[in-house]
Amino acid sequence: MEPTLPELSVLRRFWPGFDDTRTTHPVRVGGIAIGGGDPVIIAGPCAVESYEQTLAVACAVRGAGIGILRGGAFKPRTYPGSFQGLGEEGLEILAQVGRETGLAIVTEVLDPRLVERVAAVADMLQIGSRSMQNTPLLIEAGRSGKPVLLKRGWSATLDEWLGAAEYVACEGNTRIVLCERGIRVPASEGYARAVLDLNVIHAIRTLTPLPVLVDPSHAAGRWERVESLARAALAASAHGLLIEAVAADTDRALLRSDAEQGIPPDVLERIAGYARLSLPRNSR
Ligand code: PEP
Ligand code: MN
Repeated sequence: MEPTLPELSVLRRFWPGFDDTRTTHPVRVGGIAIGGGDPVIIAGPCAVESYEQTLAVACAVRGAGIGILRGGAFKPRTYPGSFQGLGEEGLEILAQVGRETGLAIVTEVLDPRLVERVAAVADMLQIGSRSMQNTPLLIEAGRSGKPVLLKRGWSATLDEWLGAAEYVACEGNTRIVLCERGIRVPASEGYARAVLDLNVIHAIRTLTPLPVLVDPSHAAGRWERVESLARAALAASAHGLLIEAVAADTDRALLRSDAEQGIPPDVLERIAGYARLSLPRNSR
């Protein structure tokens, strides 16, 4: 079964030759090309919880030879009573850590009214799974002109996901990177957070010129499972990975968000080494 893109697709309009060439349109983030030949890793904490924690993880990220740091200042949480992120203070920490380490910054924006503020700090705006169909947010992110990391809604079909990408593209912003992060199906309940859909990588790569990353962390839910899922995603031709990391296993007890799924530095280094050995992405 070959999926097709609707005739009216904006993505089609931007890249009329895509059907013939089927080449990926790389998106540059802080001088790094996502969707170029080499897989790109973005890694960092789930949430920015303090300056010290963020700097420690950033040093591990840089030590693994990775150039882009992730970390949420605004966190989408199931319960309002849970830690919601440090907000403005978290953005300031990210800006400082970015300056000190030279890492590019990816961070989530939850609220259309805050796109401009978050874009002042971020090299790339993350739209989270829960926000994938928040059209005012997609439009504002499109208007910002910043690269957008568009995560798949955990129950979204490919068509719905690409439709969301079109809202960003309609604003003239084609710097879009898709990120598969696992879909929720009842069959996986009890042992995993979500099922990583690796089939979707090939579908995206044949349907659109957009780079596609895989986030193994939010599917796994446990750090011990992340490495094998990361390797599987690279083997399935993803353009790279978005991974949650901790600076040390002993930090878990202190963390208020996704403490169990951040990988320690030695595992991050192994994944980065494996990514460096992977075949160039554009070989089909
Ligand atoms: C995240 O990456 O921090 C996150 C909240 O993931 P998702 O939106 O995929 O749940
Ligand atoms: Mn998380």
